[in-house]
Amino acid sequence: MLVLSAPSGAGKTTLARALLAQTKGARFSVSTTTRAPRAKEREGVDYFFLDEGAFMEKAGAGYFAEWAKVHGNCYGSPQSEVAFARDENSLVIFDIDVQGGRRLREREPDCVLVFILPPSLEELERRLRSRHTEDAHSIARRLEAAKTEIHQGLQFYDYIVINDEVPKALSRLNAILTAETCRTSRGVQWPSTGNP
Ligand code: 5GP
Repeated sequence: MLVLSAPSGAGKTTLARALLAQTKGARFSVSTTTRAPRAKEREGVDYFFLDEGAFMEKAGAGYFAEWAKVHGNCYGSPQSEVAFARDENSLVIFDIDVQGGRRLREREPDCVLVFILPPSLEELERRLRSRHTEDAHSIARRLEAAKTEIHQGLQFYDYIVINDEVPKALSRLNAILTAETCRTSRGVQWPSTGNP
């Protein structure tokens, strides 16, 4: 389970999709949210969109491995994706916020938490404005939240990746994945039953 978190506008979703495209058998955990869909977002691909009542009903029924309120809306990751990662021993990528990453770590100690940083706060603001998905109020709110998120990411996450250029950031992410799959604690497969 690979958790990618970042302040919005840091390029995390681009990195998650790129990683997904190049990693055989990997999948993306599609979250459920109460936020309204953006222009190009598709139900079941980007998110499952629900109203708050239906979201809370699912939360109460234990549907989510973690859920949190982010920028005034609810977001949750399905428990089924955690089960899939375990049962299939497959890479599942979670694009979730820092609260979600910390909650998932409590339940699933071996998940890997990676925090993506923009090169600077100024660059973050420029990226947020240029994507034209948020109004001025929402941009201001997200920039304010970014400072707290960065602070928490630096404190609680396993790895930091600066997204200055996508190919470079992607190669750092691949290096992390390679190192993590070689951990002795993950039970590396060895053909001999004796000691090497
Ligand atoms: P956005 O509205 O820009 O798609 O997402 C806002 C924030 O919510 C992002 O930081 C995103 O990673 C986070 N998020 C998306 N899905 C989930 C989820 O299932 N759980 C949590 N905790 N955060 C999520």
